[in-house]
Amino acid sequence: MTSFLSTPIEYLKGVGPEKANVLKKELEIFTFGDLIKYFPYKYVDRTKFYAVTEIYDTQTYVQLKGKISGMAYVGNGSSKRLTAKFTDDTGSIELVWFKGFKWLEGAFSPAETYVLYGKPTEFNKKLNFSHPELEPFTTFENKHSGIFRALYNTTEKMKNKSLDSKGIARLLETLFLQVRPEHLPENLPQSIIQAYRLISRYEAIQKIHFPKTIEAQNQAIRRLKFEELFLIQIGMIKNKILKQKGRGIVLGSLGKCFNDFYENYLPFQLTNAQKKVLKEIRKDTLSGHQMNRLLQGDVGSGKTMVALLSLLMVVDSGYQGALMAPTEILAQQHFHEVSRLLQNMDIRVELLTGSTKAKAKKEILLAAENNEIQILIGTHALIEDTVKFANLGMAVIDEQHRFGVAQRAKLWKKNSIPPHVLVMTATPIPRTLAMTLYGDLDVSVLDELPPGRKPVTTVHYSEAHRLRVLGFIKEQIQLGRQIYIVYPLIEESEKSDMKNLMEGFEHISTNFPLPEYRVSVVHGKLKSADKDAEMQRFVKGETHIMVATTVIEVGVNVPNASVMIIENAERFGLSQLHQLRGRVGRGAEQSFCILMTSYKLSQDGKKRIQTMVDTNDGFKIAEVDLQLRGPGELEGTRQSGGYNLKIANLATDTPILEEARKAAILTLEEDPLLQKQENYGLHKYLSEESSDKGIWAKIS
Ligand code: ADP
Ligand code: MG
Repeated sequence: MTSFLSTPIEYLKGVGPEKANVLKKELEIFTFGDLIKYFPYKYVDRTKFYAVTEIYDTQTYVQLKGKISGMAYVGNGSSKRLTAKFTDDTGSIELVWFKGFKWLEGAFSPAETYVLYGKPTEFNKKLNFSHPELEPFTTFENKHSGIFRALYNTTEKMKNKSLDSKGIARLLETLFLQVRPEHLPENLPQSIIQAYRLISRYEAIQKIHFPKTIEAQNQAIRRLKFEELFLIQIGMIKNKILKQKGRGIVLGSLGKCFNDFYENYLPFQLTNAQKKVLKEIRKDTLSGHQMNRLLQGDVGSGKTMVALLSLLMVVDSGYQGALMAPTEILAQQHFHEVSRLLQNMDIRVELLTGSTKAKAKKEILLAAENNEIQILIGTHALIEDTVKFANLGMAVIDEQHRFGVAQRAKLWKKNSIPPHVLVMTATPIPRTLAMTLYGDLDVSVLDELPPGRKPVTTVHYSEAHRLRVLGFIKEQIQLGRQIYIVYPLIEESEKSDMKNLMEGFEHISTNFPLPEYRVSVVHGKLKSADKDAEMQRFVKGETHIMVATTVIEVGVNVPNASVMIIENAERFGLSQLHQLRGRVGRGAEQSFCILMTSYKLSQDGKKRIQTMVDTNDGFKIAEVDLQLRGPGELEGTRQSGGYNLKIANLATDTPILEEARKAAILTLEEDPLLQKQENYGLHKYLSEESSDKGIWAKIS
């Protein structure tokens, strides 16, 4: 059934086939409904007129009121242009056009006052307006009932089809002549609308495009943000309720493996936080429902041990466990560590990665299928279709941000009864974001570091301090410590980055010569075996300095390393810097992080570096990161988010998100299936959203 909103966009007056095509391609606007939900990104106050003398940069759109005179052609051939003078009480500014001459020549009368709207451009060190919007003041006065004018994002291709911001606004004006309240029925329960003092959906959508007052504009924005976040939360919480109903493996009581390990081989006392989280996991695995738990813990908080003890619970009940890491190096390290810890116990642990040799791989696959392997550690290789477990009881995913939701789902499919899933992340996600992105997971937090850790001291140096840094490295090596020096390496500038790294390596090797000093170098261009060998040399303390790219970022554990030097630190993101810094401060000694940057820093760069200097708290750092980069860019959210938020901003709309979440929980608690009369609109909206997405319009 086609409703008004699913009418194909080409049926709108003023939209021919060409414009329709551009709208579809550039903005994914296929239907009336899509256009209505194409919200403005900003508003201009149209009551304000600038004076010509107030214009001093090319940054902002301005509105002027004045007269047009002195039309004249300048230049020849392709550089031919039409110019004129725009004059108000304070002065004059040049107008220039490069095309449309015929029409322009007779368009303006010197006696008339015009309203000009546009962004100044700079030409020959002077400001002018090229192709500004102009209309007679009398028309302007009559037309603009509202004082705010909405601005819409468009693209170059759209502008070529006269679909600039004004063009979009014009289409919306046309469309709204036909829009009736019944086309935009309410989808929020009345009680919520009243409790949160929201305006109706119809009113909000109309006002977001054509606000008459600043209050109207704010009300519309708030209502639509609330709605957007509320609907996401409803979906999320419903999923969670459904999943909780899903069957899960019930583990038996703690047995030989767990107890034997706990009593005889556990190398340290667990922190209270580790104990608390283990209890939560234990409870989940006895509940009869599948566990879906996110374990957040700052770098160094001891997540690995929580993972191992959880896997031992699983093994005790005759099930298998999997531990999946995002990189080869990390998988190997987990494997060595776990094998070492379990060496005196009768538990078979194997490693499966992309570089496992074919013969060994075949053997491992067979053993996994025959239940001869109790713990399988690996990389993405673990989720390949060829990997079949006899009875997978739990999958632990380390450093989750490298894995997408889809990959998680793949693990769940490996059994008839889905295995328990523990997702561990060292990049703490701010609460707001966690609520939105992982609302379907339960969250545990390791909010305590093992005892005796000293917070890492972080300093910011520039090139001028280079000598001092070299001296400091020498001192630390004399104290028996090891040093990391990390260089950025990104694909776009790979060549020059590699050069920087190798020059840095040579510089360090010259300053720390053999035989007294030994320097390792590790980067992504090395063969996996060489990389591993170099890493192992450093891990064993055979080399003093490790020069590397971010391959060492995730999880690598060398407690004796006490200095992390990050070159070109301004080029790293905050969470990456925090991860890197987490590589030191793992032993009992005071550790240091030295952020080397160029002298000049961007605003954001400064803020990132300062944040690192100011705090060691991963959650605080994540908050700042979210504010600086926006959630779309935040590591891990790129693949897993998938919410195409139209209006809400997860970085700045925390209060609304919290309200919306509360409202969603309340709604579902009172009416889990959304069957009550009051939730009819919501129910209807949700089912229409999921079935009809204007598919027919998109196909045609
Ligand atoms: P992360 O949470 O970053 O993965 P790890 O699991 O690598 O942290 O642990 C960091 C270091 O702390 C390791 O050397 C580990 O052996 C040690 N560790 C973990 N838990 C404790 C504890 N309760 N007491 C002392 N050391 C611990
Ligand atoms: Mg770890």
